[in-house]
Amino acid sequence: MSNSDKKRIILLSKVSTYRARPFMTAAQRLGIEVVYGIDMDPILADHWRVPLRIQLDKPQETVKNIVAFAGEHPVQAVISLDDSASVVAAMASEALGLPHNNSRAALAARNKYEMRKMLAASDVACPGFHLYDTAADPAGIAAEIEYPVVIKPLLLSGSRGVIRVNNPAEFKAAFERLKRMLAGYESESGGDQILVETYIPGGEVALEGILERGRLKVLALFDKPDPLEGPFFEETIYVTPSRLAEAVQQSIADCTARAVRSLGLYHGPIHAELRINDDGPWLLEVAGRSIGGLCSETLQFGSDISLEELILRQAIGLDVDAFRREDQATGVMMIPIPEAGLLKGCEGTEEAEQVPLVDRVEITAELNYPLVPLPEGDSYLGFIFASGPSPEAVEAALREAHKKLHFQVESLLPMVS
Ligand code: ADP
Repeated sequence: MSNSDKKRIILLSKVSTYRARPFMTAAQRLGIEVVYGIDMDPILADHWRVPLRIQLDKPQETVKNIVAFAGEHPVQAVISLDDSASVVAAMASEALGLPHNNSRAALAARNKYEMRKMLAASDVACPGFHLYDTAADPAGIAAEIEYPVVIKPLLLSGSRGVIRVNNPAEFKAAFERLKRMLAGYESESGGDQILVETYIPGGEVALEGILERGRLKVLALFDKPDPLEGPFFEETIYVTPSRLAEAVQQSIADCTARAVRSLGLYHGPIHAELRINDDGPWLLEVAGRSIGGLCSETLQFGSDISLEELILRQAIGLDVDAFRREDQATGVMMIPIPEAGLLKGCEGTEEAEQVPLVDRVEITAELNYPLVPLPEGDSYLGFIFASGPSPEAVEAALREAHKKLHFQVESLLPMVS
């Protein structure tokens, strides 16, 4: 095969991501060459002889590097593994004449205020919002808003800094807490601003989809059976297929399709979060990337095709329309952090894996490293995966397995006698 016939894709991400490995595995199965563009320290990049240098905070320069690289080694797609690289992936795809998302949509996935402004201009139901500076007087704001609201930073993800407040006293405390959290982000544009949104009650779902030149194909709809009512919003269980009525599921798909259209998302994977109540679906956020963490392990298409393989198949121009998610129900629990402290040990993994319908338990938190719960923290202890005949049975298995796990957490505070 000549150099120009070779199927080759570029994957972009920041250094630390769970998402690289499954994409690499899928690429190997498909016989595609993967060029991994990682935003890393230049000294490390030299040492590892990284073929493609990227700096996500210098998008123009990075796009130039990608275009120069692709001139020598033609590529079929430039894919971002996370929100951090979406803008560069969109810009590079555009420069290379590949189907691409609007780079403003990618920017909106990085900045919650941009997302709200773009969605507010569409016909999609989404929360009312107002932007404040951390330098503003919280007492003044607290007096003028209608409760309950959710306050959140613009640039963080994984529910970090997202807090529900029900009255002025809670508002002032949450505002000060968020301001302390954001002290290190002041230099980034939007890093020192706080979004205040109307609290939308209702159940929550996550929609995983793929866009084929503007047309949305829903790959999976996940229910989140644990109530997410605040004050913090820790993700725990995702189960698919959804138990919602067919008509409600259709309205969720329609709402997501309208949202992606209005944001200018056009091609490739999308991941959306919505709430549903008596007024119908409300869009919380949607981004041009696939589901995060290890959660994609719950998805399989055809007999043994992973989500990542599906995404790569589409990226190299193969038809993915016929692929359907497998028939059985599947789910994942992101294991919540029980308390702040140093993780000293975890027992019960084997017992948890023996619970019927449980496929696998992976503890990703490292021993002797600090565990920081929400709203300041940003990760989970690990993941439990299950599959079975119904969403109810899968949810029950995840809860049962979680009960078998025991974590030893040592307080970081000195003991006071
Ligand atoms: P992140 O991108 O950090 O996950 P989100 O804005 O998606 O932040 O918020 C995280 C979670 O907080 C959501 O999944 C939802 O459960 C809750 N949440 C955020 N905004 C609202 C809102 N306006 N009303 C109700 N719940 C919300």
